[in-house]
Amino acid sequence: MAALLRRLGKGSTAALLGGAFHGDSRFRGGRTTRGAVAAVSGGIAFLCAWSAPLTCHLEEEKQEASEKVALNPDKWTEFKLIETARVSQNSHLFRFTFDSDAKLGLNVASCILTRAPLGEDAEGKKKYVVRPYTPISDIELKGYFDLLVKVYPEGKMGQYIAELKPGDVLEVKGPVEKFRYTPNMKKHIGMIAGGTGITPMLQIINEIIKNTDDNTQVSLLYGNVSPDDILLKGKLDQIAATHPNIKIFYTVDNPSTGWRGGVGYISKDMVLKGLPAPGEDTMILVCGPPGMMKHVSGEKAKDWTQGELSGLLKEAGFTEAMVYKF
Ligand SMILES: Cc1cc2nc3c(=O)[nH]c(=O)nc-3n(C[C@H](O)[C@H](O)[C@H](O)COP(=O)(O)OP(=O)(O)OC[C@H]3O[C@@H](n4cnc5c(N)ncnc54)[C@H](O)[C@@H]3O)c2cc1C
Repeated sequence: MAALLRRLGKGSTAALLGGAFHGDSRFRGGRTTRGAVAAVSGGIAFLCAWSAPLTCHLEEEKQEASEKVALNPDKWTEFKLIETARVSQNSHLFRFTFDSDAKLGLNVASCILTRAPLGEDAEGKKKYVVRPYTPISDIELKGYFDLLVKVYPEGKMGQYIAELKPGDVLEVKGPVEKFRYTPNMKKHIGMIAGGTGITPMLQIINEIIKNTDDNTQVSLLYGNVSPDDILLKGKLDQIAATHPNIKIFYTVDNPSTGWRGGVGYISKDMVLKGLPAPGEDTMILVCGPPGMMKHVSGEKAKDWTQGELSGLLKEAGFTEAMVYKF
């Protein structure tokens, strides 16, 4: 855990890599080639996962099909917490272990379900709170996975996870597939994320940058309350700086002195300038708190289907087929 944990432990990931932008341009990638992310040494292994090279061969795929997976979609399975790290004032990384010969068993992009005991009902039967989370560690990793969890003061699951001590277990079930990403499925993917809504975007970006045959362009608009709330900003900056196809624009409600990103909620101007134009080769992915979803794309329907498209994306000319709400 060495260096990164110590740095994460200081609180703000904004400190990791300095400013979001390089020069005046809103979106500008870096100069070096893909795969250069490997430079991070030590630290929590989700970072190592970001750097793992991957060559997709049919042979490997066949082999993978028979590999052991830790998750069971029909049964709650216990995963042991081994390490934690603070990422921002209210968000933390949690690493859980399982059989070192097994993969977790996720596709990109998918999430897991967690549950925590919540007293008993009138008949004395155990009640549970169930919440989805999106692992941000590489799906190919064996033996462990990492969750980035925002802990709300009144949040039932967040508080439960935050109180777990190394050695304690969390009950998990899954995977729950959300959006099936395949390499080069679209020329340009736009992403709008708010707060921990970054987690499925990280899964997809990781999948893109580790595959040298994947030429997908990504433009991410990432909204947060303040610069210190930007989760994993150091890592995101590093990805943008080393992968010309990944562009990131941050916007915050409460900018600090010298802030060079956007200010305020995601706006129509940001959508028009920062995302690819509507078209057959374009997909926009949205994930964030209900208020942001409503403003940007309209919320999902009550039955968790995609619901009607509205908000900024509709105004900008996107159709329902071009937008996916996590
Ligand atoms: C597909 C999917 C993947 C997700 N992945 C992640 C992830 O990787 N990491 C992560 O931290 N969360 C993720 N979430 C959100 C997560 O499932 C919980 O909803 C969240 O952690 C709050 O749960 P809780 O039980 O702690 O709070 P709750 O008990 O549900 O809420 C208590 C109070 O917390 C506040 N609150 C709760 N949620 C929000 C919110 N989104 N915005 C603002 N205030 C809120 C409200 O004041 C609320 O009254 C994901 C959600 C979905 C649907």
